[in-house]
Amino acid sequence: RAKASGRHCWRFFEIEMDAEARMQHVLEIDLRSALASDELDVHYQVIVDVATRLPCGVEALVRWRHPVFGNLSPDRFVPIAENTGLIVPIGEWILRRACAEATGWPAHVKIAVNMSPVQFRSPGLVAMVRGTLAAVGLPPERLELEITESVLLQKHSEIIDRLHELSALGINIVLDDFGVGYSSLNYLRLFPFSKIKIDRGFVGEMARRTDCATIVSAVTGLAHALDMATTAEGVETWEQFRLVQAAGCSQAQGYLFSRPEPAGRLDFSRREIGERNRS
Ligand code: C2E
Ligand code: MG
Ligand code: MG
Ligand code: MG
Repeated sequence: RAKASGRHCWRFFEIEMDAEARMQHVLEIDLRSALASDELDVHYQVIVDVATRLPCGVEALVRWRHPVFGNLSPDRFVPIAENTGLIVPIGEWILRRACAEATGWPAHVKIAVNMSPVQFRSPGLVAMVRGTLAAVGLPPERLELEITESVLLQKHSEIIDRLHELSALGINIVLDDFGVGYSSLNYLRLFPFSKIKIDRGFVGEMARRTDCATIVSAVTGLAHALDMATTAEGVETWEQFRLVQAAGCSQAQGYLFSRPEPAGRLDFSRREIGERNRS
């Protein structure tokens, strides 16, 4: 009996695998025409200064309105874009779009764009970024490039050179999702980061677990001592906001302040952003 049900489970698994593989294949084909078919969009989520609770930055987050499957999360299609190399033209389009949008914002508001490790490996990255900024007329100091540690796992010397070249242009390099995976303290010394984003996994647990709050305080202290700012990701409640404030984080980002939204809905004149949500 156990054997029969075991076989049954295996069959089920096999069918699921097929469906997943087929879906993957369909998305891969559709993604090739997504840019040209105008199905991709960029949404923007504000990052606030903890001291003033006013926006000091905005993160660009790609969206795909699939004609059949509806809105797909970047976690679903960015890996496909990376495996196929499509992330290179798509990433360039996102950067250009986000930087062009940012030229219309107040000068103190930075635009943060996520960069895939695959983009980092592609030749001409630095020239592409420089060219994009020049074309839209955005000063390099207003751009933040967010990278995760997976970028750093690649061939070190080349990556370090690229990061230093970008940084020499005046662009800010930000370490995203810090604290998950294999984050090494040595990265903080080897690369020219201007800011560390503390993964929302820690922020979400801070209220329940004092060890998470301790880690966030310690990472923030270390970052600031090394002359880097910190952003707490995924702040959803006022309690979490007070905790990241107590931990010394300089910036906060999360649904408490705003969801990612289309460019037209950003409003930088709003004072005390998030206040309307206070309970
Ligand atoms: P990320 O760069 O760490 O972006 C933050 C993610 O957290 C976003 O998810 C954002 O919507 C979500 N988030 C923000 N505040 C909260 C909150 O309070 N609670 C919760 N639960 N989530 C929050 P999203 O837009 O689905 O993007 C997921 C990931 O996909 C990003 O993580 C990034 O790694 C990747 N990604 C998104 N856009 C791009 C892009 O333009 N290029 C590349 N290469 N990757 C991108
Ligand atoms: Mg990011
Ligand atoms: Mg992140
Ligand atoms: Mg992430």
